[in-house]
Amino acid sequence: MEPLGSLFQPSQVSTRAETKIAYSRDASRIQGPCQGVVWPETVTDVVCLAQWAAETGIDLVPRGAGTGLCGGATPQNSIVVDSARLRHIDVLNIQLKQVVVEAGVPLDLLNRYLKPFGLFFPVIPGSHRSATIGGMIATNAAGLHAVRYGRMSDWVEEVIVVDGNGDVHQLSASDRKIFAGREGVTGMIVQATLRLTEIPTSRSLTLFSFEYLAEMLKQVKQLKTNSALSALEYLNPHAAALIGWTARHYVLVEYHSAEGEIRDPAEMANLWGARESLSARLTQAGFPISEDPQFPPEALEDNLDWLTAQNIPVFGHLGVGILHPRFLLEDARIAELYYRVSASGGQISGEHGMGLKKRQWASEALKAEVLALKTRFDPQHIFNRGKLC
Ligand SMILES: Cc1cc2nc3c(=O)[nH]c(=O)nc-3n(C[C@H](O)[C@H](O)[C@H](O)COP(=O)(O)OP(=O)(O)OC[C@H]3O[C@@H](n4cnc5c(N)ncnc54)[C@H](O)[C@@H]3O)c2cc1C
Repeated sequence: MEPLGSLFQPSQVSTRAETKIAYSRDASRIQGPCQGVVWPETVTDVVCLAQWAAETGIDLVPRGAGTGLCGGATPQNSIVVDSARLRHIDVLNIQLKQVVVEAGVPLDLLNRYLKPFGLFFPVIPGSHRSATIGGMIATNAAGLHAVRYGRMSDWVEEVIVVDGNGDVHQLSASDRKIFAGREGVTGMIVQATLRLTEIPTSRSLTLFSFEYLAEMLKQVKQLKTNSALSALEYLNPHAAALIGWTARHYVLVEYHSAEGEIRDPAEMANLWGARESLSARLTQAGFPISEDPQFPPEALEDNLDWLTAQNIPVFGHLGVGILHPRFLLEDARIAELYYRVSASGGQISGEHGMGLKKRQWASEALKAEVLALKTRFDPQHIFNRGKLC
């Protein structure tokens, strides 16, 4: 068996102690031992690595920016495969509104590139500055504008994936169950063709505040019928107080029209800035653990009430029922939350994925589905071993 270092350029592999420490966790803080890191530069590099892993039995963990919040990119005695050098934006077709990108392209980089053409990619997680297209497809990310634009699987036209046999697959949107939201267990995504949309010509915001939840949810129902709606974000009184706002329920609404109260670009940027600073500020305030339950509309009032009564800060994408309650480290109420989500017919993971953090909560149906995919694409469990199944 060839040593890993002999397969690549020296600059593409590291087994240095400091590198292994840096790659031993993702943004979830869940840690695991890392045996080394490889930075592939071509599809052939990934094929070579998958074949080497199949020979040695060492598993591979694909990694984008490591912003995942459930240990999906955390190794377990694995080699981490960092997509940072798969960073080319290859072909833009303005007529078709499509772009071909490598998996390691960060979302904001793509949107800066697209701006002069009047186009953008509209699935925008809070981590948009660094989250990569590959990581976003693997987690089927949603985000700040999901109420209008949905999630990744709605915008991927085609992907190229290297599977655990070292085979290269060109998969279309109709194969999305093989790759979208599969958290890298079927292989490494190396390239994607994405659909794009036009940058809206008009944008405005309104910040609504409410004393009572029932009153807020009534208004939310009304707002969701507005065809210009492009974001519907929530803050509960506890989260609001932690960023210096009066402790009330808030809904930040963005319209692709001029009907909102705030139209000045600088004022809008300030308000979005406050919303986007929440995650870091809640971490600083002692609530580092971020959950992502998705509740059906009829279960929102009861569960938001419970979270607020527990003094748990909450924000999130209320338009699609995805909330981000924030917890203390090892907070026993997280398990209670999961039971509440299951009892209400919701999803324990609305957008972050299961990773290592929630694997014991994966349903038997999901495990069976993933095992069937593993048999087909990764029989030796080379990619993301022990995750999702
Ligand atoms: C402040 C903050 C805000 C966030 N807001 C949102 C939000 O609004 N919406 C949302 O959906 N998420 C959000 N997230 C979570 C996270 O940013 C997303 O899950 C994002 O899609 C992960 O992208 P990444 O490139 O960092 O992937 P990583 O964290 O590196 O990896 C995530 C998973 O994808 C797999 N993976 C990565 N690259 C590939 C690849 N090329 N091929 C196959 N598998 C791969 C990994 O193995 C892992 O299982 C947020 C995170 C933070 C820290």
